[in-house]
Formats: sequence, C-alpha cells, structure tokens
Amino acid sequence: MDTKEFRTKLLIEKLSKIYPDRFSQNLVDMRSAEYRKILIIAPHADDEVIGCGAAIDHFIGQGAHITVLIVTQESSRSIARYYDYTPQQRMEESYEAQSVLGYHELEYFNFPELMLRSDALLQKSFCLELHDFIVKHQPDCVFIPNKEEMHPDHQIIGELSEGVLAKGVKSKSFTQLQAAIVYEIWGPVVMNSFLEISDTAYAKKIQGIRCYRSQLSSVDYEKIIEFIGWSRGKDLANTGAQSPELKFKIAEGYRLCNYKEN
Ligand SMILES: [Zn+2]
Repeated sequence: MDTKEFRTKLLIEKLSKIYPDRFSQNLVDMRSAEYRKILIIAPHADDEVIGCGAAIDHFIGQGAHITVLIVTQESSRSIARYYDYTPQQRMEESYEAQSVLGYHELEYFNFPELMLRSDALLQKSFCLELHDFIVKHQPDCVFIPNKEEMHPDHQIIGELSEGVLAKGVKSKSFTQLQAAIVYEIWGPVVMNSFLEISDTAYAKKIQGIRCYRSQLSSVDYEKIIEFIGWSRGKDLANTGAQSPELKFKIAEGYRLCNYKEN
C-alpha cells in the first residue's frame, strides 16, 4: 500500500469512528433557506469543495452571490511541499476549482498553514482582518469550519470565526448577517441541517477536487468526499428527515446557527 492510500485509509477509519450519531432529530432542509449574499470561510484551498460544494451549487441556483475566502497559504509545514508542488500551483488550482463550481469571488488572506493555533499574534490579526472583510462585504450568511474537528487550522479558524461573528452581530457591525453555518471537513458537527447532494452537485464536487492535484498527491480526497456524503445520507434515512421527495442518498450536513434579530 503506498503512502497516499495508507493515509486515506487511516483518515476514513478515524472518521468512521466519530461520525455515527452526530445529529439532532429535527433537521432543517437548507433548500428552504433564502440567502442572497454568502461568505464561505475556508481554512485551506480545497475545503470549500469538500465541505460546501453542494451548498455552493444549490445557492448559486437560487441566485445568491457567493464569495470564498481562503485563510491560509502554504508554509514550510505544508505537506504538499514534499510532493514538489508550489504555493502558486495550489492557488492556480483554486481558481480552476472556482470555475468548475461557478461561484463569484475568490479571495485570499495570507496566514501560514499550520501555524495559527500556536501564535496569538497571528490569531489577533486574523480576527481583525476577518472583521473588516465582513464589514466590507456584509454577507447575510457565513459558512465557517468546525472547531471540534481534528485539523488544527480548521479548529482554530472555526473557533475564531465564531467569535468574530458573534461580536460583530452584537456590536451591529454586521448589519445583514442572519446565520452562521458550520460545515464539515475532518469531523462531524452535531448536524441540525442538511442539503442533499444532487447528481450534478456531486459531479461538480468531484471535478472541483480533481483540480487540486497538489493536495491529491497526499490524500485521496474523492474517497473522503464520498465517505462524508454517504455517512450523512445514511443519517437522513435513519432520522426520518428523509421525506419521499428526497431523491439522493448522499448529503452535506451542517450546524445552522441563527442570529436573533436585534
Ligand atoms: Zn483544510
């Protein structure tokens, strides 16, 4: 078994242990949500495809404007470095994936991958930059990573984003913000909302992740996308949330947090 295959197998084994029973009984089908301006905060270029590919596809279909903000860029600790890929290549791949998914804006911050969690100064600048970014864009819905999962960048960026959003809502700086939606990459949320992944959306997720050749050199992300999608699809079948009109057996699961109107 080569390293990539081994690493993928290990990740799926870990995910298999932590996915079961992580959902609420009353699930919201996100098809009923009406957002016009969505911001997706992705710790790394590729998280937007893995965690939110179906959401991007769905909300574009609803006429929403979607911006993806990628927080980190590759650093000396990035794994792709060992496979002779450059940060520039990964960035180019993200633009390629953007054209596959068809969303509107792709923006970058410049925080070093795998260094945020241990650096309080970097964390402070991230919070300030994110606050200003949201004030400038005024989204009505923000997708954030899951602070309870295994990747250190996802954890810290999830936690800090949650704090920035809560504070901005409280101080009325984020005038349009209605909801934060926590999405899944390396670990489950307690799912309280979902979107089925249509055949078209699934094809886009797969085509999108294939753009990330640098990342696919170390892990088979197609298999990860497949595992998460089927796990959430199975949960929907088990909760009774699956109404007869639900046609697809795979889904993206989220934790939807609505901000109360002030
Ligand atoms: Zn990531």
